[in-house]
Amino acid sequence: MRKRMLSKCTITQMEQEYLPSSVENIIIGAGIAGITTARLLQDVGEEVVVLEATDRLGGRIFTSNDGFEWGAEFIHGDDAATWKYIRQFGLQTEEDGIDTHPYIFEDNEVKVDNGDYPSCDEMIARIFQRIQTTQQITATAVNKVLEAICFEVDYPAERCEILRRAIQSEHGARLGHLSLRGMMEPSSFGRRNYRLTEGYGALVDKMGEGVSIHTETPIERIAWKQGGATVFDKNENSIRAKRVISTIPIGEMHRPTGGRMFSPALPPEYRKAFSELGAGRVWKIIVELRKQLCPPDMSLLRTSLTTQVWWPVTGKNGASGMSALVGPRGIKDFGKSSKRKARRVALQDLSWMFGEHVAHEVEAISIIPWARDPYCHTGYSFERNRGKGSREILQKPIQDTIYFAGEATVTGTVAGAIESAERVVAQILNATRKPLTAHLTSPLPSSPDTSSVPA
Ligand SMILES: Cc1cc2nc3c(=O)[nH]c(=O)nc-3n(C[C@H](O)[C@H](O)[C@H](O)COP(=O)(O)OP(=O)(O)OC[C@H]3O[C@@H](n4cnc5c(N)ncnc54)[C@H](O)[C@@H]3O)c2cc1C
Repeated sequence: MRKRMLSKCTITQMEQEYLPSSVENIIIGAGIAGITTARLLQDVGEEVVVLEATDRLGGRIFTSNDGFEWGAEFIHGDDAATWKYIRQFGLQTEEDGIDTHPYIFEDNEVKVDNGDYPSCDEMIARIFQRIQTTQQITATAVNKVLEAICFEVDYPAERCEILRRAIQSEHGARLGHLSLRGMMEPSSFGRRNYRLTEGYGALVDKMGEGVSIHTETPIERIAWKQGGATVFDKNENSIRAKRVISTIPIGEMHRPTGGRMFSPALPPEYRKAFSELGAGRVWKIIVELRKQLCPPDMSLLRTSLTTQVWWPVTGKNGASGMSALVGPRGIKDFGKSSKRKARRVALQDLSWMFGEHVAHEVEAISIIPWARDPYCHTGYSFERNRGKGSREILQKPIQDTIYFAGEATVTGTVAGAIESAERVVAQILNATRKPLTAHLTSPLPSSPDTSSVPA
Protein backbone atom coordinates (compact mmCIF):
# COMPACT_ATOMS: atom_id res chain seq x y z
CA MET A 1 0.00 0.00 0.00
CA ARG A 2 1.29 3.43 -0.91
CA LYS A 3 0.91 6.56 1.13
CA ARG A 4 -0.31 9.39 -1.01
CA MET A 5 1.23 12.77 -0.30
CA LEU A 6 -0.62 15.99 -1.05
CA SER A 7 0.42 16.60 -4.64
CA LYS A 8 1.76 20.01 -5.46
CA CYS A 9 -0.55 21.55 -7.96
CA THR A 10 -3.09 19.77 -10.03
CA ILE A 11 -4.60 22.90 -11.42
CA THR A 12 -3.09 24.95 -14.21
CA GLN A 13 -0.99 27.62 -12.65
CA MET A 14 -0.56 31.07 -14.07
CA GLU A 15 2.83 32.38 -14.93
CA GLN A 16 3.62 34.81 -12.16
CA GLU A 17 3.72 38.41 -13.36
CA TYR A 18 5.23 41.20 -11.35
CA LEU A 19 2.82 42.64 -8.84
CA PRO A 20 1.73 46.17 -9.72
CA SER A 21 2.08 48.77 -6.96
CA SER A 22 -1.60 49.67 -7.21
CA VAL A 23 -4.75 48.30 -8.78
CA GLU A 24 -8.50 48.99 -8.60
CA ASN A 25 -9.47 45.72 -6.90
CA ILE A 26 -7.47 43.25 -4.83
CA ILE A 27 -9.05 39.90 -4.20
CA ILE A 28 -7.62 37.79 -1.41
CA GLY A 29 -7.90 34.05 -2.02
CA ALA A 30 -8.01 32.05 -5.27
CA GLY A 31 -10.76 29.67 -4.24
CA ILE A 32 -13.86 29.55 -6.43
CA ALA A 33 -15.28 32.72 -4.78
CA GLY A 34 -12.11 34.74 -5.43
CA ILE A 35 -11.60 33.54 -8.99
CA THR A 36 -15.24 34.06 -9.95
CA THR A 37 -15.23 37.58 -8.50
CA ALA A 38 -12.03 38.37 -10.41
CA ARG A 39 -13.33 37.02 -13.68
CA LEU A 40 -16.65 38.88 -13.48
CA LEU A 41 -14.95 42.15 -12.55
CA GLN A 42 -12.40 41.73 -15.32
CA ASP A 43 -15.24 41.13 -17.78
CA VAL A 44 -16.61 44.61 -17.04
CA GLY A 45 -13.23 46.26 -17.46
CA GLU A 46 -12.22 46.52 -13.81
CA GLU A 47 -8.56 46.05 -12.92
CA VAL A 48 -8.11 43.02 -10.70
CA VAL A 49 -5.34 41.13 -8.95
CA VAL A 50 -5.93 37.93 -6.99
CA LEU A 51 -3.48 37.15 -4.19
CA GLU A 52 -3.38 33.53 -3.08
CA ALA A 53 -1.45 32.16 -0.12
CA THR A 54 -0.78 28.67 -1.44
CA ASP A 55 0.90 27.39 -4.60
CA ARG A 56 -2.31 26.36 -6.34
CA LEU A 57 -5.77 27.62 -7.31
CA GLY A 58 -9.07 26.23 -6.09
CA GLY A 59 -8.86 26.32 -2.28
CA ARG A 60 -11.35 23.74 -1.04
CA ILE A 61 -11.86 22.54 -4.61
CA PHE A 62 -8.97 20.14 -5.21
CA THR A 63 -9.10 17.40 -7.84
CA SER A 64 -6.10 15.09 -7.35
CA ASN A 65 -3.86 13.92 -10.19
CA ASP A 66 -5.68 10.58 -9.99
CA GLY A 67 -9.03 12.28 -10.54
CA PHE A 68 -10.34 11.90 -6.98
CA GLU A 69 -11.95 14.88 -5.29
CA TRP A 70 -10.04 15.85 -2.15
CA GLY A 71 -12.42 18.70 -1.38
CA ALA A 72 -15.79 19.59 -2.93
CA GLU A 73 -17.27 16.79 -4.99
CA PHE A 74 -20.92 17.39 -5.90
CA ILE A 75 -23.04 20.04 -7.55
CA HIS A 76 -26.05 20.02 -5.26
CA GLY A 77 -29.18 20.55 -7.33
CA ASP A 78 -30.41 21.75 -10.70
CA ASP A 79 -30.67 25.36 -9.52
CA ALA A 80 -27.11 25.74 -8.21
CA ALA A 81 -25.47 28.98 -9.41
CA THR A 82 -22.62 26.77 -10.66
CA TRP A 83 -24.60 25.65 -13.74
CA LYS A 84 -24.33 29.01 -15.46
CA TYR A 85 -20.55 28.63 -15.62
CA ILE A 86 -20.58 24.90 -16.34
CA ARG A 87 -22.65 25.74 -19.43
CA GLN A 88 -20.56 28.73 -20.39
CA PHE A 89 -17.34 26.67 -20.28
CA GLY A 90 -18.91 23.63 -21.93
CA LEU A 91 -18.00 21.26 -19.10
CA GLN A 92 -19.51 17.79 -18.93
CA THR A 93 -21.43 16.53 -15.91
CA GLU A 94 -22.88 13.24 -14.69
CA GLU A 95 -25.76 12.69 -12.32
CA ASP A 96 -24.72 11.05 -9.05
CA GLY A 97 -27.26 9.40 -6.78
CA ILE A 98 -25.23 9.80 -3.59
CA ASP A 99 -28.35 9.77 -1.43
CA THR A 100 -30.54 7.40 -3.46
CA HIS A 101 -29.62 4.07 -1.90
CA PRO A 102 -28.15 4.48 1.56
CA TYR A 103 -26.76 1.63 3.62
CA ILE A 104 -25.82 1.49 7.28
CA PHE A 105 -23.28 -0.55 9.22
CA GLU A 106 -25.25 -1.91 12.16
CA ASP A 107 -24.84 -5.01 14.34
CA ASN A 108 -21.56 -5.72 12.53
CA GLU A 109 -23.35 -5.93 9.20
CA VAL A 110 -23.40 -3.69 6.12
CA LYS A 111 -27.08 -3.53 5.14
CA VAL A 112 -29.65 -1.44 3.30
CA ASP A 113 -31.00 1.27 5.61
CA ASN A 114 -34.60 0.12 6.00
CA GLY A 115 -36.45 -2.48 8.05
CA ASP A 116 -37.83 -2.43 11.58
CA TYR A 117 -36.87 1.16 12.34
CA PRO A 118 -37.19 4.41 10.41
CA SER A 119 -34.15 4.97 8.19
CA CYS A 120 -31.64 7.74 8.95
CA ASP A 121 -33.17 9.79 6.11
CA GLU A 122 -36.65 9.40 7.60
CA MET A 123 -35.30 10.51 10.97
CA ILE A 124 -33.65 13.57 9.41
CA ALA A 125 -36.97 14.34 7.66
CA ARG A 126 -38.72 14.06 11.05
CA ILE A 127 -36.28 16.53 12.58
CA PHE A 128 -37.01 18.96 9.73
CA GLN A 129 -40.74 18.42 10.13
CA ARG A 130 -40.57 18.97 13.89
CA ILE A 131 -38.65 22.19 13.41
CA GLN A 132 -41.22 23.42 10.89
CA THR A 133 -44.36 22.39 12.75
CA THR A 134 -43.23 23.75 16.10
CA GLN A 135 -41.81 26.90 14.47
CA GLN A 136 -38.64 26.09 16.38
CA ILE A 137 -36.32 27.72 13.89
CA THR A 138 -34.43 29.20 16.73
CA ALA A 139 -31.00 29.12 18.19
CA THR A 140 -31.78 25.77 19.85
CA ALA A 141 -29.06 23.18 19.25
CA VAL A 142 -29.87 20.21 17.03
CA ASN A 143 -28.96 17.60 19.64
CA LYS A 144 -32.02 18.40 21.78
CA VAL A 145 -34.52 17.69 19.00
CA LEU A 146 -32.55 14.69 17.79
CA GLU A 147 -32.48 13.07 21.25
CA ALA A 148 -36.22 13.70 21.71
CA ILE A 149 -37.14 12.13 18.35
CA CYS A 150 -34.83 9.12 18.90
CA PHE A 151 -36.51 8.60 22.29
CA GLU A 152 -40.03 8.81 20.80
CA VAL A 153 -39.40 6.06 18.23
CA ASP A 154 -37.31 4.00 20.64
CA TYR A 155 -34.40 4.19 18.23
CA PRO A 156 -31.63 1.74 19.21
CA ALA A 157 -28.49 3.32 20.69
CA GLU A 158 -26.25 2.29 17.77
CA ARG A 159 -28.64 3.86 15.24
CA CYS A 160 -28.81 7.08 17.28
CA GLU A 161 -25.03 7.23 17.10
CA ILE A 162 -25.05 6.55 13.34
CA LEU A 163 -27.55 9.39 12.91
CA ARG A 164 -25.56 11.77 15.12
CA ARG A 165 -22.36 11.06 13.19
CA ALA A 166 -24.07 11.43 9.81
CA ILE A 167 -25.39 14.92 10.66
CA GLN A 168 -22.06 15.83 12.25
CA SER A 169 -20.02 14.95 9.21
CA GLU A 170 -22.47 16.69 6.85
CA HIS A 171 -22.13 19.99 8.73
CA GLY A 172 -18.69 19.49 10.26
CA ALA A 173 -20.26 20.55 13.53
CA ARG A 174 -20.84 19.12 16.98
CA LEU A 175 -24.59 18.82 17.40
CA GLY A 176 -24.50 20.93 20.56
CA HIS A 177 -23.08 23.80 18.47
CA LEU A 178 -25.18 23.46 15.31
CA SER A 179 -28.43 25.40 15.56
CA LEU A 180 -31.73 24.14 14.18
CA ARG A 181 -31.62 27.14 11.89
CA GLY A 182 -28.17 26.00 10.76
CA MET A 183 -29.45 22.52 9.99
CA MET A 184 -32.30 24.03 7.95
CA GLU A 185 -30.02 26.29 5.90
CA PRO A 186 -30.30 25.29 2.26
CA SER A 187 -27.11 23.52 1.25
CA SER A 188 -28.79 22.02 -1.78
CA PHE A 189 -30.38 23.76 -4.74
CA GLY A 190 -32.59 20.93 -5.92
CA ARG A 191 -33.02 17.23 -5.32
CA ARG A 192 -30.47 15.78 -7.74
CA ASN A 193 -26.69 15.76 -7.35
CA TYR A 194 -24.07 15.88 -10.10
CA ARG A 195 -20.31 15.63 -10.58
CA LEU A 196 -18.11 17.27 -13.16
CA THR A 197 -16.82 14.51 -15.42
CA GLU A 198 -13.30 15.97 -15.54
CA GLY A 199 -13.42 16.91 -11.86
CA TYR A 200 -14.27 20.15 -10.06
CA GLY A 201 -10.73 21.36 -10.82
CA ALA A 202 -11.78 21.82 -14.46
CA LEU A 203 -14.24 24.53 -13.39
CA VAL A 204 -11.49 26.32 -11.46
CA ASP A 205 -9.10 26.05 -14.40
CA LYS A 206 -11.63 27.53 -16.81
CA MET A 207 -12.76 30.26 -14.43
CA GLY A 208 -9.13 31.25 -13.78
CA GLU A 209 -8.13 31.49 -17.46
CA GLY A 210 -6.80 34.96 -18.22
CA VAL A 211 -7.21 36.22 -14.66
CA SER A 212 -4.21 37.83 -12.96
CA ILE A 213 -3.48 35.54 -10.01
CA HIS A 214 -0.41 35.58 -7.81
CA THR A 215 0.14 32.39 -5.84
CA GLU A 216 2.39 31.91 -2.79
CA THR A 217 1.40 35.38 -1.63
CA PRO A 218 -0.11 35.04 1.85
CA ILE A 219 -1.58 38.33 3.00
CA GLU A 220 -0.90 39.21 6.61
CA ARG A 221 -2.13 42.79 6.97
CA ILE A 222 -4.75 45.04 5.40
CA ALA A 223 -4.42 48.73 6.26
CA TRP A 224 -7.59 50.46 5.17
CA LYS A 225 -9.61 53.65 5.30
CA GLN A 226 -12.61 54.79 3.31
CA GLY A 227 -11.70 54.86 -0.36
CA GLY A 228 -8.57 52.73 -0.29
CA ALA A 229 -6.48 50.00 1.28
CA THR A 230 -2.94 48.66 1.25
CA VAL A 231 -2.36 44.94 1.68
CA PHE A 232 0.92 43.48 2.92
CA ASP A 233 2.26 39.98 2.44
CA LYS A 234 4.49 38.24 4.97
CA ASN A 235 7.61 39.92 3.49
CA GLU A 236 5.96 43.33 3.88
CA ASN A 237 5.61 43.68 0.09
CA SER A 238 2.59 45.88 -0.41
CA ILE A 239 0.03 46.76 -3.03
CA ARG A 240 -2.62 49.49 -2.95
CA ALA A 241 -6.20 49.28 -4.17
CA LYS A 242 -9.49 51.14 -4.13
CA ARG A 243 -11.21 48.00 -2.88
CA VAL A 244 -10.25 44.78 -1.15
CA ILE A 245 -12.46 41.74 -1.54
CA SER A 246 -11.59 39.15 1.09
CA THR A 247 -12.55 35.52 0.58
CA ILE A 248 -10.48 34.33 3.53
CA PRO A 249 -12.30 31.31 5.00
CA ILE A 250 -14.09 31.50 8.35
CA GLY A 251 -11.62 29.06 9.96
CA GLU A 252 -8.75 31.44 9.20
CA MET A 253 -10.77 34.46 10.41
CA HIS A 254 -11.22 32.71 13.77
CA ARG A 255 -7.47 32.46 14.25
CA PRO A 256 -5.35 35.26 15.70
CA THR A 257 -3.70 35.76 12.27
CA GLY A 258 -7.04 36.30 10.54
CA GLY A 259 -8.68 38.22 13.36
CA ARG A 260 -5.86 40.76 13.60
CA MET A 261 -5.35 41.20 9.88
CA PHE A 262 -7.36 44.41 9.48
CA SER A 263 -5.93 47.71 10.60
CA PRO A 264 -7.89 49.48 11.95
CA ALA A 265 -9.85 46.48 13.25
CA LEU A 266 -13.13 45.68 11.54
CA PRO A 267 -16.25 47.34 13.03
CA PRO A 268 -17.53 45.37 16.07
CA GLU A 269 -20.62 43.98 14.25
CA TYR A 270 -18.38 42.31 11.63
CA ARG A 271 -16.05 40.87 14.27
CA LYS A 272 -19.08 39.55 16.13
CA ALA A 273 -20.51 38.08 12.93
CA PHE A 274 -17.28 36.21 12.16
CA SER A 275 -17.00 34.91 15.72
CA GLU A 276 -20.62 33.75 15.80
CA LEU A 277 -20.46 31.63 12.66
CA GLY A 278 -19.11 28.14 13.16
CA ALA A 279 -16.07 26.79 11.28
CA GLY A 280 -17.08 23.19 10.53
CA ARG A 281 -14.31 20.65 11.03
CA VAL A 282 -13.99 17.85 8.49
CA TRP A 283 -11.30 15.54 7.16
CA LYS A 284 -11.68 13.65 3.94
CA ILE A 285 -10.23 10.20 3.39
CA ILE A 286 -9.82 8.64 -0.06
CA VAL A 287 -8.98 4.96 -0.26
CA GLU A 288 -7.96 3.87 -3.76
CA LEU A 289 -8.82 0.25 -4.41
CA ARG A 290 -7.87 -2.50 -6.84
CA LYS A 291 -11.48 -3.63 -6.72
CA GLN A 292 -14.60 -1.90 -5.35
CA LEU A 293 -15.57 -3.27 -1.93
CA CYS A 294 -19.14 -2.12 -1.55
CA PRO A 295 -22.32 -3.56 -3.06
CA PRO A 296 -22.97 -2.13 -6.56
CA ASP A 297 -26.17 -0.33 -5.54
CA MET A 298 -24.71 1.30 -2.40
CA SER A 299 -24.68 5.09 -2.70
CA LEU A 300 -23.77 5.95 0.88
CA LEU A 301 -22.75 4.07 4.03
CA ARG A 302 -23.46 5.59 7.43
CA THR A 303 -21.66 4.12 10.43
CA SER A 304 -21.08 4.67 14.12
CA LEU A 305 -17.35 4.10 13.52
CA THR A 306 -14.65 6.76 13.76
CA THR A 307 -14.67 7.28 10.00
CA GLN A 308 -18.41 8.10 10.14
CA VAL A 309 -19.70 8.15 6.53
CA TRP A 310 -18.39 6.43 3.36
CA TRP A 311 -19.36 6.36 -0.32
CA PRO A 312 -17.94 4.82 -3.50
CA VAL A 313 -15.90 7.08 -5.80
CA THR A 314 -14.28 6.74 -9.20
CA GLY A 315 -10.98 8.27 -10.26
CA LYS A 316 -9.27 8.64 -13.64
CA ASN A 317 -9.61 5.73 -16.07
CA GLY A 318 -12.37 4.21 -13.94
CA ALA A 319 -10.14 3.63 -10.87
CA SER A 320 -12.23 2.49 -7.89
CA GLY A 321 -12.18 4.03 -4.49
CA MET A 322 -14.09 4.80 -1.33
CA SER A 323 -14.27 8.16 0.30
CA ALA A 324 -15.05 9.05 3.91
CA LEU A 325 -16.08 12.37 5.41
CA VAL A 326 -15.06 12.55 9.05
CA GLY A 327 -16.58 15.20 11.33
CA PRO A 328 -15.48 16.49 14.74
CA ARG A 329 -16.21 13.28 16.67
CA GLY A 330 -13.99 11.15 14.43
CA ILE A 331 -11.29 13.83 14.19
CA LYS A 332 -11.11 13.79 17.99
CA ASP A 333 -10.57 10.02 17.88
CA PHE A 334 -7.64 10.47 15.50
CA GLY A 335 -5.92 12.40 18.28
CA LYS A 336 -2.74 14.38 17.78
CA SER A 337 -0.81 11.68 15.89
CA SER A 338 -3.46 12.27 13.27
CA LYS A 339 -2.61 11.45 9.64
CA ARG A 340 -0.81 8.18 10.40
CA LYS A 341 -3.52 7.17 12.84
CA ALA A 342 -6.27 8.23 10.42
CA ARG A 343 -4.76 5.97 7.76
CA ARG A 344 -4.67 3.04 10.20
CA VAL A 345 -8.22 3.69 11.41
CA ALA A 346 -9.55 3.96 7.84
CA LEU A 347 -8.10 0.58 7.00
CA GLN A 348 -9.34 -0.93 10.25
CA ASP A 349 -12.89 0.42 9.77
CA LEU A 350 -13.06 -0.83 6.17
CA SER A 351 -11.75 -4.27 7.24
CA TRP A 352 -14.32 -4.40 9.98
CA MET A 353 -17.13 -3.65 7.54
CA PHE A 354 -15.98 -5.59 4.46
CA GLY A 355 -13.61 -8.28 5.80
CA GLU A 356 -9.90 -8.85 6.40
CA HIS A 357 -9.16 -9.14 2.67
CA VAL A 358 -9.60 -5.36 2.37
CA ALA A 359 -5.90 -4.74 3.13
CA HIS A 360 -4.97 -6.59 -0.09
CA GLU A 361 -7.30 -4.47 -2.19
CA VAL A 362 -5.95 -1.10 -1.06
CA GLU A 363 -3.71 0.80 -3.48
CA ALA A 364 -3.29 4.05 -1.58
CA ILE A 365 -4.87 6.08 1.19
CA SER A 366 -5.00 9.87 1.08
CA ILE A 367 -5.84 11.84 4.20
CA ILE A 368 -6.92 15.43 3.65
CA PRO A 369 -7.25 17.19 7.01
CA TRP A 370 -9.17 20.32 5.95
CA ALA A 371 -9.74 21.33 9.56
CA ARG A 372 -5.94 21.69 9.77
CA ASP A 373 -5.29 23.25 6.37
CA PRO A 374 -2.97 26.20 7.08
CA TYR A 375 -5.10 28.70 5.13
CA CYS A 376 -8.63 27.29 5.46
CA HIS A 377 -8.74 25.66 8.91
CA THR A 378 -12.24 24.50 8.08
CA GLY A 379 -14.44 22.32 5.91
CA TYR A 380 -17.33 24.76 5.63
CA SER A 381 -19.17 27.29 7.78
CA PHE A 382 -22.33 26.60 9.77
CA GLU A 383 -24.83 28.64 11.78
CA ARG A 384 -24.17 28.20 15.45
CA ASN A 385 -26.86 28.41 18.08
CA ARG A 386 -26.09 32.09 18.60
CA GLY A 387 -25.24 33.24 15.09
CA LYS A 388 -28.48 34.64 13.71
CA GLY A 389 -27.99 37.14 10.91
CA SER A 390 -24.19 36.83 10.82
CA ARG A 391 -24.05 35.98 7.14
CA GLU A 392 -26.23 38.98 6.24
CA ILE A 393 -23.90 41.32 8.12
CA LEU A 394 -20.86 40.00 6.24
CA GLN A 395 -22.67 40.63 2.96
CA LYS A 396 -22.61 44.40 3.59
CA PRO A 397 -19.56 46.23 2.23
CA ILE A 398 -17.66 48.48 4.63
CA GLN A 399 -17.48 52.04 3.30
CA ASP A 400 -17.31 50.77 -0.29
CA THR A 401 -13.76 49.67 0.47
CA ILE A 402 -13.80 46.26 2.19
CA TYR A 403 -16.03 43.52 0.77
CA PHE A 404 -16.44 39.94 1.95
CA ALA A 405 -17.18 37.03 -0.35
CA GLY A 406 -16.79 33.27 0.07
CA GLU A 407 -18.99 30.47 1.27
CA ALA A 408 -19.23 31.83 4.85
CA THR A 409 -21.26 34.78 3.58
CA VAL A 410 -23.89 32.46 2.04
CA THR A 411 -23.82 28.73 2.85
CA GLY A 412 -21.05 26.17 2.84
CA THR A 413 -21.15 25.13 -0.81
CA VAL A 414 -19.43 25.88 -4.10
CA ALA A 415 -22.70 27.34 -5.39
CA GLY A 416 -22.86 29.53 -2.28
CA ALA A 417 -19.31 30.76 -2.91
CA ILE A 418 -20.20 31.56 -6.54
CA GLU A 419 -23.34 33.43 -5.45
CA SER A 420 -21.23 35.44 -3.03
CA ALA A 421 -18.94 36.44 -5.92
CA GLU A 422 -21.90 37.54 -8.04
CA ARG A 423 -23.29 39.54 -5.12
CA VAL A 424 -19.99 41.37 -4.52
CA VAL A 425 -19.60 42.20 -8.21
CA ALA A 426 -23.18 43.55 -8.34
CA GLN A 427 -22.42 45.68 -5.25
CA ILE A 428 -19.24 47.07 -6.82
CA LEU A 429 -20.98 47.83 -10.12
CA ASN A 430 -23.71 49.54 -8.18
CA ALA A 431 -21.20 51.62 -6.22
CA THR A 432 -19.37 52.60 -9.42
CA ARG A 433 -22.68 53.20 -11.25
CA LYS A 434 -21.81 50.71 -13.96
CA PRO A 435 -24.67 48.65 -15.42
CA LEU A 436 -25.10 45.05 -14.27
CA THR A 437 -23.84 42.52 -16.78
CA ALA A 438 -26.05 39.86 -18.32
CA HIS A 439 -24.43 37.28 -16.04
CA LEU A 440 -25.68 39.02 -12.95
CA THR A 441 -29.17 39.75 -14.21
CA SER A 442 -30.03 36.73 -16.34
CA PRO A 443 -32.26 34.04 -14.85
CA LEU A 444 -30.73 30.65 -14.14
CA PRO A 445 -30.79 28.25 -17.04
CA SER A 446 -33.43 25.58 -16.96
CA SER A 447 -32.76 22.01 -15.87
CA PRO A 448 -29.28 20.86 -16.81
CA ASP A 449 -28.55 18.44 -19.58
CA THR A 450 -26.45 16.00 -17.61
CA SER A 451 -24.89 14.15 -20.42
CA SER A 452 -23.25 16.71 -22.59
CA VAL A 453 -22.09 20.15 -23.33
CA PRO A 454 -24.79 22.64 -22.49
CA ALA A 455 -26.11 25.15 -24.98
C1 LIG B 1 -14.14 17.88 2.25
C2 LIG B 1 -15.06 18.89 1.65
C3 LIG B 1 -16.10 18.47 0.85
C4 LIG B 1 -16.97 19.40 0.27
N1 LIG B 1 -17.93 18.96 -0.55
C5 LIG B 1 -18.69 19.86 -1.22
C6 LIG B 1 -19.59 19.41 -2.22
O1 LIG B 1 -19.70 18.21 -2.50
N2 LIG B 1 -20.34 20.35 -2.87
C7 LIG B 1 -20.22 21.69 -2.59
O2 LIG B 1 -20.93 22.50 -3.20
N3 LIG B 1 -19.35 22.14 -1.63
C8 LIG B 1 -18.58 21.25 -0.97
N4 LIG B 1 -17.66 21.69 -0.06
C9 LIG B 1 -17.60 23.12 0.25
C10 LIG B 1 -16.86 23.91 -0.84
O3 LIG B 1 -15.63 23.28 -1.12
C11 LIG B 1 -16.60 25.33 -0.35
O4 LIG B 1 -17.82 25.90 0.09
C12 LIG B 1 -16.04 26.23 -1.45
O5 LIG B 1 -15.06 25.59 -2.22
C13 LIG B 1 -15.47 27.47 -0.76
O6 LIG B 1 -14.93 28.34 -1.72
P1 LIG B 1 -14.32 29.73 -1.23
O7 LIG B 1 -13.74 30.38 -2.42
O8 LIG B 1 -15.33 30.46 -0.42
O9 LIG B 1 -13.18 29.34 -0.18
P2 LIG B 1 -11.80 28.52 -0.41
O10 LIG B 1 -11.96 27.51 -1.47
O11 LIG B 1 -11.38 28.06 0.92
O12 LIG B 1 -10.83 29.64 -0.94
C14 LIG B 1 -10.19 30.55 -0.07
C15 LIG B 1 -8.75 30.75 -0.56
O13 LIG B 1 -8.17 31.78 0.23
C16 LIG B 1 -6.81 31.44 0.44
N5 LIG B 1 -6.33 32.21 1.60
C17 LIG B 1 -6.67 32.03 2.91
N6 LIG B 1 -6.01 32.92 3.67
C18 LIG B 1 -5.27 33.68 2.83
C19 LIG B 1 -4.39 34.78 3.03
N7 LIG B 1 -4.13 35.27 4.24
N8 LIG B 1 -3.77 35.33 1.94
C20 LIG B 1 -4.01 34.86 0.68
N9 LIG B 1 -4.85 33.81 0.45
C21 LIG B 1 -5.47 33.25 1.51
C22 LIG B 1 -6.85 29.95 0.66
O14 LIG B 1 -5.58 29.35 0.45
C23 LIG B 1 -7.89 29.52 -0.39
O15 LIG B 1 -7.28 29.19 -1.62
C24 LIG B 1 -16.79 20.79 0.53
C25 LIG B 1 -15.73 21.21 1.34
C26 LIG B 1 -14.88 20.28 1.88
C27 LIG B 1 -13.72 20.77 2.72
